[in-house]
Parts: sequence; structure tokens; C-alpha cells
Amino acid sequence: MAENDYALEVNDLTVAYEHEPVLWDIDLDVPSGVIMAIVGPNGAGKTTLIKAILGLIEPAAGQVLIFDQPYNEQRHLVGYVPQRRSVDWDFPTTVEDVVMMGLYGQLGWIKRPTRHHRAITHEALEKVGIVNLADRQISQLSGGQQQRVFLARALVQDAQVYFMDEPFQGVDATTERAIVTLLQELRQQGKTIIVVHHDLQTVTEYFDWVTLLNVRKIASGPVEWTFTAENLRETYGGRVSFLKSQPEMMQPGQEQ
Ligand code: ADP
Repeated sequence: MAENDYALEVNDLTVAYEHEPVLWDIDLDVPSGVIMAIVGPNGAGKTTLIKAILGLIEPAAGQVLIFDQPYNEQRHLVGYVPQRRSVDWDFPTTVEDVVMMGLYGQLGWIKRPTRHHRAITHEALEKVGIVNLADRQISQLSGGQQQRVFLARALVQDAQVYFMDEPFQGVDATTERAIVTLLQELRQQGKTIIVVHHDLQTVTEYFDWVTLLNVRKIASGPVEWTFTAENLRETYGGRVSFLKSQPEMMQPGQEQ
């Protein structure tokens, strides 16, 4: 299906809020079939990068390609899991309805869901371990359950490229493990997953590709070559105390 191996290409992307650049001249080439972390300090522009790629924010400059074609022509290949906190969880609706919203691309807003659509929805809920909550109001969910609802909604979209904004934020260890397993399954199916991630400790375990961002792109590539002490210092500006607890990680100048 792809003419080249890149699921995502970002060229010369610059985003500014009120004339203040928050992303500056970003270039990214992300091969298909990787799980990539986007890491960087608070305010580095991680969420802005995802929103700009998805056309939710108008960039000052730049171009985004999904499998070699402009994003606008490839929307149907893209799934999005927004930050859990960005949603009003008091809205009166059920888990099943929220997950089914992922099908609206196929359904249109007017059509009623068929038994087939319900089956797809329940399959996704099963996959994320909350099929028993299908009829529950979303206001009655824990943080981990909310995150699983979002993942199920992304699954029914059956996308090729997924963008997830902090899917591990505020979830318990069991949910974190379940999400990691799900991401690995998606990768095995050849999907590409791009994740805004906060926990530097788990980058080498969970991801095979990483982008280090702080307004500018500091580095992007395979974790083993890119997630280096030098790049982390450049991204976080000096003190990254966790480095001491990562003896297996390469230090600058060290041979592999
Ligand atoms: P991150 O996800 O890395 O924490 P963000 O992309 O959320 O960073 O934000 C990048 C910068 O843009 C921050 O300085 C933030 O304050 C600013 N910012 C984010 N959203 C807006 C907005 N709607 N209007 C103005 N500034 C914003």
C-alpha cells in the first residue's frame, strides 16, 4: 500500500501561538511498523505536534504526509487517542456509545448502528478488558477504564497510523501493562503507533523509535541510537537524574 516505507513524514513544520513559536522547523520521517515515543519536557510542544499533524491546529508552515500522500487525503488511515483529561467525562453517554463513535467515519452521523457495528464495538471492548462496562455511564469510570474506552474507540477505527497523547497518564500498573500489550499487537499487525510519553524509565522497554523534542527536534530515530545521555541532556537542559539508574544505556562517546 505504501510507496515508501514512511508512515509519517513531517516537513518544515512550524507552529506559533500568538506569534510565539512553540514548534520550530520540525522534520520527521517515521517508518511504518514502529512504536515511537515523543518525549520532552513540559511545554516542549508534544501535544501541539500531534494536533498540528492531525490538522487540529493550523501550522504557520509545513507539510504532513501519511504514506506519501497529504494528510487530508489519508485521514481514514489515522486514529487518535487524545489526552484523557481533555474530555468532559460528565457528559451523559455510555461506554458503548463512545466506542461506537470511532465508527462514525464509516457510519456517518445519521445512520443507526447495525448489529455488525455493535459486534465490532464489543470485540474492541473485549480486547481492552472492559466489555462488562459497555452499558455504564462514562461518568462512572476510573482513570484506567477511561483510557481503555479511548483505546477501544481507536481500535474500531481500524487505522494504519495511531497517535496517542499520554495513554499511560494516571493509569494503574495493570492497565499500563494491558496498553503495552495492545500496542505490541497493533505493531505485529503492521500498524504504526506514535505516543506522547512522559516516563523516561520505560522508553527503552516499550518503544523501538523515539523523537526527542523541545520546540525543535533534538533527535529522532531508533531508541538504541537516539535515546542517549547527550540527546537527553540537550532536550531536558542538563540534569536528568534518572540516567544514573540506566547502566545499560549508552553514554556519549561510548562504543556500542
Ligand atoms: P507539551 O505537550 O510538550 O507539554 P504543549 O504542546 O501542550 O506542550 O504546549 C507547547 C507550548 O504551547 C506551551 O508553552 C504551551 O503553554 C503553549 N500552548 C499550548 N496550547 C496553547 C494555546 N491554545 N494557546 C496558547 N499557547 C498554547
